Amino acid sequence: MHRENPRTNPERRVKGRLFVLSGPSGVGKGTLREHALSDISGLVYSISCTTRQPRPGETDGVEYRFISHEKFQQDIDDNLFLEYAHVHNDYYGTLRRDVENALNSGHDVLLEIDVQGALQVREKMPEALLIFIAPPSVQELERRLINRCTESPDAVRTRLHNAIKELELQDKYNYVIVNSDLETASRELRAIITSHDELG
Ligand code: 5GP
Repeated sequence: MHRENPRTNPERRVKGRLFVLSGPSGVGKGTLREHALSDISGLVYSISCTTRQPRPGETDGVEYRFISHEKFQQDIDDNLFLEYAHVHNDYYGTLRRDVENALNSGHDVLLEIDVQGALQVREKMPEALLIFIAPPSVQELERRLINRCTESPDAVRTRLHNAIKELELQDKYNYVIVNSDLETASRELRAIITSHDELG
């Protein structure tokens, strides 16, 4: 049976939905996000601003908009952020206009942001769906952070310390996916996003 895809039919879908993905550093959020974006048509990613330095291979405007502390502060003062937070010694934020423009043009939007930011989004847009990605254990998270070699030992320690605090907030989310196996977690994420789409 042919079923119309509401994402590709702008007459049926007036406004898109907002999905917020969070979870500790190293849990695999980035990979899950990429799978969701390539698998689900009409789902767009909102590129955050950050004051952190680009890692090798990262390009301004692709992974993040890399901006100075001064510019970030100016954007806070101008009330441009839907949410922002100080994470692992840097600032990260989502521009309100990016999200609103995409939602108003009928796209579903995915944010990948930390727990402080997710809770701010929930305050401002209670209809947003919050999805937390949890590791099978803290030990496994440490192993993944060390193996990916993107952070110094000090940064790994900061990220683990923050992870323990983040894990305590997972019950504030609508869904928790335990990422033991990437394929399974990816299927679960897709099922959550697409079932919520069909509900609308
Ligand atoms: P990373 O430096 O590893 O790219 O990201 C560090 C953390 O910042 C991750 O937990 C990521 O989800 C979070 N993050 C990325 N963009 C944003 C954002 O726009 N707002 C908030 N609150 N957190 C973000």
